[in-house]
Amino acid sequence: MPRVFNFSAGPAMMPESVLRRAAGEIADYGGTGMSVMEMSHRSKEYVALFEGVERKLRAAMSVPENYKILFLQGGATLQFSAVPMNLLARKGKADYAVTGFFAKKAYRCGQMYGTVRAAVDTGDYYAVPEQEALDLDPDASYLHFCHNNTVYGTRWPYLPETGGVPLVCDMSSSILSEPVDVSKFGVIYAGAQKNMGPAGLTVVIARGDLLDVPPLPGTPDLLSYKAQAENGSMMNTPATYGVYLLGLVLDWLAEQGGVAAMEADNRRKAALVYEAVDQSPVFACKAEPRSRSRMNAVFSSGSDETDGRFIKEAAARGMVTLKAHRATGGVRASMYNAMPLEGAERLAELIRAFNS
Ligand SMILES: *Cc1c(COP(=O)(O)O)cnc(C)c1O
Repeated sequence: MPRVFNFSAGPAMMPESVLRRAAGEIADYGGTGMSVMEMSHRSKEYVALFEGVERKLRAAMSVPENYKILFLQGGATLQFSAVPMNLLARKGKADYAVTGFFAKKAYRCGQMYGTVRAAVDTGDYYAVPEQEALDLDPDASYLHFCHNNTVYGTRWPYLPETGGVPLVCDMSSSILSEPVDVSKFGVIYAGAQKNMGPAGLTVVIARGDLLDVPPLPGTPDLLSYKAQAENGSMMNTPATYGVYLLGLVLDWLAEQGGVAAMEADNRRKAALVYEAVDQSPVFACKAEPRSRSRMNAVFSSGSDETDGRFIKEAAARGMVTLKAHRATGGVRASMYNAMPLEGAERLAELIRAFNS
């Protein structure tokens, strides 16, 4: 079976060369006679690999020295708890921008830990609010926002201006897809399974001084950023193989020209698909143009039957997992870094050819 163009929102496509390289060293990593999967996380070989991946990620995102990089587990969803547990005590309250499915989940979860307020709730989630629409508390511990709203297919076209309140960002579906100025953030976190590798690994990038405030009482050590940072993310067994695969993805990313090259590619792929949708007499995209995601293009004909037929026709042409999230219905084409340009070209072609 040839490789398909997999438009899954996550777990998502990985670069084929990465999969082949991993296959090539599956049973013997670097002449050790064992798989990375079989290696002690405390072994000299594995610790060297682990530290190398951290360096590669720091280089890829230009993460400043005063930021800690943590390799954790539990997915982005566990960070919905870890963020308030670690940061809410600073000022005792926090703001959340509620702009989509996961942003709302993070907000709801935050409410269990203390005084948490919606700085904005846009309701229909097809447009990211303007700065003026944010009702920000200058004395909040942080403002939480979700950079790319995976379900509704929107992306913040700017970084919220908070006047010194740390920005905490769920970047699960856009990390490494474009350059970001990490120094503008307090914390960035992401589940790996969209743009970084397989599920099971969660990356947290946190400004060092934010870890000086003790976490809320009862915070498990495994969820404490400070404890994890002090132990090099090795308080217990980390997601060893996932970290290794992230390293291969970062090698691939560097060969492609890094995050700036990714942004150029991702803009091209998204433009192809949105142009085809905008010109189609059948489909429409609800996301407001300035808020459109480059990672997840969500569109619909307005008829489940027609959308279903499109999804079926696409699958017959090797383009799979196009069914959108139940919250929106319709079609969702997720095009992370590893989606080849050809996938977007073929999808745009089918959108143009498709008649209701
Ligand atoms: C996928 C996703 C999540 C959930 O990630 P898990 O790793 O499954 O917990 C959270 N936020 C965003 C923006 C996502 O895209």
